[in-house]
Amino acid sequence: MIKQIKGLHHVTSLASDARENNAFFTNVLGLRRVKKTVNFDAPDVYHLYYGDEAGTPGTVMTYFPFPNARRGSKGIGEVGRTAFSIPTGTSQAWLDRFATFGVAGVSQDIRFGQKRVLFDGPDGDQFALVESDDDRTPWTGNGVSAEIGIRGFQSADMRLKNAGASAELLQFMGYEKQETENNVTRFIVPGGNDANTIDLEELPSAGFAAQGAGSVHHLAFAVENRARQLEVREALLDTGYQVTPVIDRDYFYAIYFRTPGGVLFEVATNEPGFDRDEDTAHLGEALKLPSQHEHLRARLEGYLQPLEG
Ligand code: ZN
Repeated sequence: MIKQIKGLHHVTSLASDARENNAFFTNVLGLRRVKKTVNFDAPDVYHLYYGDEAGTPGTVMTYFPFPNARRGSKGIGEVGRTAFSIPTGTSQAWLDRFATFGVAGVSQDIRFGQKRVLFDGPDGDQFALVESDDDRTPWTGNGVSAEIGIRGFQSADMRLKNAGASAELLQFMGYEKQETENNVTRFIVPGGNDANTIDLEELPSAGFAAQGAGSVHHLAFAVENRARQLEVREALLDTGYQVTPVIDRDYFYAIYFRTPGGVLFEVATNEPGFDRDEDTAHLGEALKLPSQHEHLRARLEGYLQPLEG
């Protein structure tokens, strides 16, 4: 078992419309866009990052908006619902806000004793707001006050035919098995950040998911720095996982591996962070390109859909 994993770093999903995606995460959810860049592997597609003021690991929802991408279909072998934490007693304020904005898929339930507001993103992406005592400082604005603001991620669900192999992997990654409620088993990493929870949901008779707009592309887990990341990489290789070399993503270093249940995992460093190439006061405003794509700037600025205006 390894002890370097500190919870979620970011969650990356697919979208069909950059402008609509940006409006939803900034205007409706009140998150801060902390980076406007491109998919480093397909630079004619944006990579948009939304989180708290600094884009602290454990708060960052990211998107690849592929124009007119077909919507994915839900099933096993994917990340299901991604949950953000909100202060205790603020569900009603969010229900009212979602009604004002006409947010789809809104309902309420209780999981492991915590009240949740369930809702859909613009491409049918499944989210929850979970009431909890979470003292992280939220980003505010667009009508979202500090009293109700999203604190960051609480958890993500993995949908699986059989949770066995993924449970083993999470435990290898330092997560501890908690209680089971219906078909959901909770795992928490001790000593992690506030986004320290993964729920495994078993759906033995469901079909496989098809990835598309509204699907999670991968879950990224946080490690402190590059040394810890290399230790994790070695440990995964020793256990038989196929792990990519370390890839420089400008704002963090990344390694990727496919889990037995089909979900793509990344392990990302908390360093250097989103302020490495722009002031914290102006994060997410300018189009930032990695040096290998800087020569494409004029073409990309003409081609990529404006997010505002
Ligand atoms: Zn990632």
